[in-house]
Amino acid sequence: MGPTEELVRIAKKLDKMVARKSTEGALDLLKSLTGYTMTIQLLQTTRIGVAVNSVRKHCSDEEVVASAKILIKNWKRLLDGKEKDTDGDKEKKKGLDVSSCPGEGLKHCKNTAEKHREKHKERRASADSRSSTVSSSSSPQKRLSGERANSSKAKPEMPRTPTSPSFSPSPCFLAPCYLTGDSVRDKCIEMLTAALCMDDDYKEFGVNCEKMASEIEDHILWGTRNMKYRNRVRSRISNLKDPKNPGLRRNVLCGTIEPGLIARMTAEEMASDELKKLRNAMTQEAIREHQMAKTGGTVTDLFQCGKCKKKNCTYNQVQTRSADEPMTTFVLCNECGNRWKVC
Ligand SMILES: [Zn+2]
Repeated sequence: MGPTEELVRIAKKLDKMVARKSTEGALDLLKSLTGYTMTIQLLQTTRIGVAVNSVRKHCSDEEVVASAKILIKNWKRLLDGKEKDTDGDKEKKKGLDVSSCPGEGLKHCKNTAEKHREKHKERRASADSRSSTVSSSSSPQKRLSGERANSSKAKPEMPRTPTSPSFSPSPCFLAPCYLTGDSVRDKCIEMLTAALCMDDDYKEFGVNCEKMASEIEDHILWGTRNMKYRNRVRSRISNLKDPKNPGLRRNVLCGTIEPGLIARMTAEEMASDELKKLRNAMTQEAIREHQMAKTGGTVTDLFQCGKCKKKNCTYNQVQTRSADEPMTTFVLCNECGNRWKVC
């Protein structure tokens, strides 16, 4: 077994100890680590630095912590020495920084360093053995496995997938307690919040718009992130923001329309009063026409069809306006189907 395999094995053991919250035997492992001639390449490929750092953070045994600190200090020195040589190594150092997140550690930094390296490829054209090994270790396969292991790191990869077009790399301003861990959902909650807060009336009702938006979103979510979900979020936002329909937003804010209700309301139900009236009128018209077609009306020869000039018609009288106004007479030609209205 070469040093790489040995170090990987030790790193795994240390990780397990941290996971089990039992660092029994950690000291022996840490002591054995002092025997290795550490290189930057080894640190990167084995993630031993991350493992030791997480032991340092999670262990209560002073001796273990001290021993981990010494190792990290020595390894940092190794990186400090290289710092002047390349830009990439500066990034690497960050990965071993004891103040950095233990879960991320070297793995994260490797990615950054790799990007950095790509940027400076031309400048550093003569590839030394170290850099070529490092590049291969951060190859796509490696990154994929990283994604699987670390969801927070996988996020930056998401915008490239076509399934999340609403994701934008801009920072989410949502309070942490409302974050769902899903960038698309977070964005939707954020947009719903903005719709609820678009005017000052939320202050009047003393509403926490983020909380309300998060509840509405939760009701909208039907298990899957399909088009239905997106369309629903979108239609809710446009209706809440509709300047012609402030009543809807106010009803939601004051609780007359509960989050669960706004989540499933139809476009008709959300529509402004103006639109509702218009829709109602259209519906009435349709009903009237339907009724006339059904009842058949009265057959008469009083009317002559303008199209076929025949006098075989059916007429129907309907009260279209208020009751004190004259009825409207609808005429249907039984010969050619021509329809007209007589006031
Ligand atoms: Zn006719």
